[in-house]
Amino acid sequence: MVFEGLAEKLQNALGKLKGKGKLSEKDVENAMREVRLALLEADVNFKVVKQFINTVKERAIGHEVMESLTPGQQVIKIVNEELTILMGEKESKLEFANTPPTVIMMCGLQGAGKTTTSGKLGALLKKKGKRPLLVACDIYRPAAIKQLQVVGEKVEIPVFSIGDKQSPVNIAKASIEHGKKNGNDVIIIDTAGRLHIDEDLMEELENIKNEVKPNEILLVVDAMTGQDAVTVSESFNEKLGITGVVLTKLDGDARGGAALSIRAVTNKPIKFAATGEKFDQLETFHPDRMASRILG
Ligand code: GDP
Repeated sequence: MVFEGLAEKLQNALGKLKGKGKLSEKDVENAMREVRLALLEADVNFKVVKQFINTVKERAIGHEVMESLTPGQQVIKIVNEELTILMGEKESKLEFANTPPTVIMMCGLQGAGKTTTSGKLGALLKKKGKRPLLVACDIYRPAAIKQLQVVGEKVEIPVFSIGDKQSPVNIAKASIEHGKKNGNDVIIIDTAGRLHIDEDLMEELENIKNEVKPNEILLVVDAMTGQDAVTVSESFNEKLGITGVVLTKLDGDARGGAALSIRAVTNKPIKFAATGEKFDQLETFHPDRMASRILG
């Protein structure tokens, strides 16, 4: 189950409204107080929580609910709809280049799951008939190139590497030429990560971006890090202009804060969700399905 604590508390708070024939403003207020606490405990950004509760209350205490035959169900429906909107409303698809190859730049902090996700994304696209190429642009961590090569072998996708003596910008540039020659229609560039955001990392990513003009800049963030994931997303977005987020480790005991805040805070969509270490454990992120899973 995803976001277990949050799901349980929300279902509990809203469950109390379910059986009631008529709701008073006080009933709604009480339920919303519990919902608010549950969201804060799940590490959802406090501004996002405030806005969310206000919107739900406004809708619930208006005509929409009070005159409804099943007011409790109506409030639950509103919460479901607003949670969905909070996470982006609709699924957000990858942008492909009109003239291939499509270039996807993967970025994020070390350990977020960038390399694994690059392989997973490649596998997902290959299944859809694309011919991806993985590109090893992390020249700093000694084992990084090898790691991507191992990933490439597992998912049976070629890996472009020219070692660690060239600059990442040159590697990225060369990979596009290589991809064009070899009929690769999607180039997935695995960039270097750091333990923390630093100027050098951002500058390097900007340089790669300016050189290869990616169709997508996907930021990979670890859902278990909650508000830190949101802060990281804000920083990368400000400096780099990301096009979307991949949330990883949703199979762990993430509380939900990242999933529920990132879209609202950065205004960039969560495009994919990773739910395990295996290479088929990446799926398109569906805000409506996620909301329904949380509300049970
Ligand atoms: P990078 O440093 O950002 O490239 O991160 P890696 O791809 O090396 O991943 C770091 C660790 O997280 C590895 O042990 C991965 O197997 C693991 N990992 C990545 N994605 C997921 C996920 O969705 N769920 C779980 N449980 N582990 C993941």
